[in-house]
Amino acid sequence: MVTERPDRQPKNLLIHGGHIIDPSQGVDAIGDLLISDGKIGWLSTDGTVSLPESCQVLDARGMVVCPGFVDIHCHLRQPGFEEKETIATGTRAAAKGGFTTVCCMPNTDPPIDSGATAEYIKSLAESEGVVRVLPVGCVSKGRAGSELADFGELSTSGVIAFSDDGSPVADSSLMRRALEYSRDSGLPIIDHCEDLILSQGGVMNEGSVATRLGLKGIPAAAEERMVARDIELARSTGGRLHIAHVSTAGSVDLIRRARGEGVSVTAEVTPHHLTLTEEMVAGYNTNAKVNPPLRTAQDIAALIIGLKEGVIDAIATDHAPHTAEDKMADFLQAAFGISGLETALGGLMELVHQGKLNLVTLISKLTYEPALFLRRTDLGTLKPGAPADVTIFDPEAEWVANPDEFASKGKNTPLAGSLLKGKVMITIYGGQLSYKDDAIKLETKRYATRSEA
Ligand SMILES: [Zn+2]
Repeated sequence: MVTERPDRQPKNLLIHGGHIIDPSQGVDAIGDLLISDGKIGWLSTDGTVSLPESCQVLDARGMVVCPGFVDIHCHLRQPGFEEKETIATGTRAAAKGGFTTVCCMPNTDPPIDSGATAEYIKSLAESEGVVRVLPVGCVSKGRAGSELADFGELSTSGVIAFSDDGSPVADSSLMRRALEYSRDSGLPIIDHCEDLILSQGGVMNEGSVATRLGLKGIPAAAEERMVARDIELARSTGGRLHIAHVSTAGSVDLIRRARGEGVSVTAEVTPHHLTLTEEMVAGYNTNAKVNPPLRTAQDIAALIIGLKEGVIDAIATDHAPHTAEDKMADFLQAAFGISGLETALGGLMELVHQGKLNLVTLISKLTYEPALFLRRTDLGTLKPGAPADVTIFDPEAEWVANPDEFASKGKNTPLAGSLLKGKVMITIYGGQLSYKDDAIKLETKRYATRSEA
């Protein structure tokens, strides 16, 4: 009996006539891509195609076709904070944002400091998620900052890195031991760099805007002091250090110098730190309250240079969903964080439209380079045989960010009401449609098996 395959699971899908950008292979050309049985079948940019007898066809003319985005830093909140987000809602938000792989931070309740919790998250992701979820394990037991978590058990259960994100590893001796382990295991230590004494009581960037608003600032030095410490520890241990959400020009300089000296340090930057300044806080907008805080235009310029030079490897969302109550408090009390998965591309495309970043570099920082960080040659690529993780977006489509339409439970975005240019239309994870914009139609076509030139 022949049954119609559900729309979600096309056996063969031909993505026709799109602008294919795959930095892992140096591809940047108009072409066709065939997805077959959940894997990339072939990619053609010279007009030579070998079509299956029957396949669904997506007309991708005018659209960019690239590897599914890889987010190495987000918060899915489950277990423990299901009122903010769950794996089901967070992965749907990821898919809507074009992400097919997300690495979730361990500041859950219980935190991911045991193999059992890591396994639990993986099984939840398997049953309820619509994209790949790779958990990050804690550096310290209970994220308490005093005793090293069981790295051996966590590695066995498949965590891809260790971090106490949300908090720094304040104890230098603990950080040193964590880096020693990373040298032997190859799994990076991701540090949220913040000197808690320097940042104490701060709610936004330290500077003239904070003064004007009468708010206590978080100085750039609070981040840079910790970046400098971590670099010294990575240098002396030979460990693998990754700096989370770099936000200041000074941090970019420190990382650049360290890399030049051969220290094993990688770094990420968020879409909001690349596109928004501290001025967003004016009016005491709690949706612009984030840690590290939004900085200055000079910092943004330095972060963009860092991306272009390769000093910063990846763009990571630091998606941090919160409830309306968490954000409705006054500015001092409100939670830190931005719900970022669904606006990432639209926000970042502004840099491309303004000529500040080229499209290939942007896509590289969302696909190939974060996959390199994960040492996963099967991710962030459209190479034949790789899992069919594909994102298709319209670089020119304009849309207004409306948190009420978010798949995420976190409606906390400073971009609410903003006009964005660049919209994800389809996200394919392992050959299945994880997200499809209503405007997109797939049609089934039958071909006699043949080659076309
Ligand atoms: Zn953080």
